[in-house]
Amino acid sequence: MDRLELLEVVGNSYVVSGKYGIGVYFDKSSKTAVCIDSGPNASVIEKVCARISEKGYHVLAVVHTHGHAVNHGGNPYLKKRFPNLHIYATHLASYIIENPLLEPFVFDVGAATNEKLDQNKESVRAHVTDYLPSTDGIFHIHTIPFKIVSLPGHSPGMVGIITPDHVLYCGDALFGPKTLNKQDLLFFNDLKAARRSFKKLSMMKLNAYVLYHGGPYKTVTGLINKHLTIMRDTSDFLEALIHEQPSTLEQLVQKVMKRFEFEDDLHRYGLTTSIIRSYLKELHHEKKIVAKVDNGILVFHKSTIT
Ligand SMILES: [Zn+2]
Repeated sequence: MDRLELLEVVGNSYVVSGKYGIGVYFDKSSKTAVCIDSGPNASVIEKVCARISEKGYHVLAVVHTHGHAVNHGGNPYLKKRFPNLHIYATHLASYIIENPLLEPFVFDVGAATNEKLDQNKESVRAHVTDYLPSTDGIFHIHTIPFKIVSLPGHSPGMVGIITPDHVLYCGDALFGPKTLNKQDLLFFNDLKAARRSFKKLSMMKLNAYVLYHGGPYKTVTGLINKHLTIMRDTSDFLEALIHEQPSTLEQLVQKVMKRFEFEDDLHRYGLTTSIIRSYLKELHHEKKIVAKVDNGILVFHKSTIT
């Protein structure tokens, strides 16, 4: 893997180069660093820690935007290297961090179990030590004031974190162009909440925004519009399929996976099912489709209301 660098976003707020936009805030007076999310595994965060050490800092805490495995996989390593590490997450996110099987889209139970075994091998329990408020407000780590912004839609209890430099680390509230181009089905579990979060983001005046999959941005208005267009297209596509022919969730998942040429693997299937379910819920709520159970099978039909 390429060498990871710490890139200055604004002032003391940094982001790690490469695939995962792990944030690092440096507190000059105490020579401590606060990580925002910890990457998918030990090897990534180990490289981040090497850069932090080179600057003469040690890691005091890791703050999680949400509970997905790629955001907290570096915790056992961090905890081992910094035994007094504080691990912050919202209550909702902490349930998912500590119990990966609770993730609503985890279908490949085998993979989740193996991950648990690996953590046990390291014999370090990296559980959440401190809870973040799930509503907007200020919280302090040591004496550093951070602001919490709730950004629901992608994952339960997701929050953004604003550093004293007015840089917002927004987790997966938005995705960068790479993700937008390769993946036409955006990962949002609550579409209404996601749109509310977009609106909130568009009204905020900050120095920069850091996306976990996409890196730093000065403004996010253009990205937000792209997200809204993709979401509308997905919703229209599903509605058209159902209008053409009454369909089950399984049939819709199959058509979507074919359309986007997704590989036949359990994780992708689980993710696709979870996302489509959220679109169907919205279409049903807006009375654009009807859900009927027929002989024990849930079938989505065209709405008779015009
Ligand atoms: Zn995520």
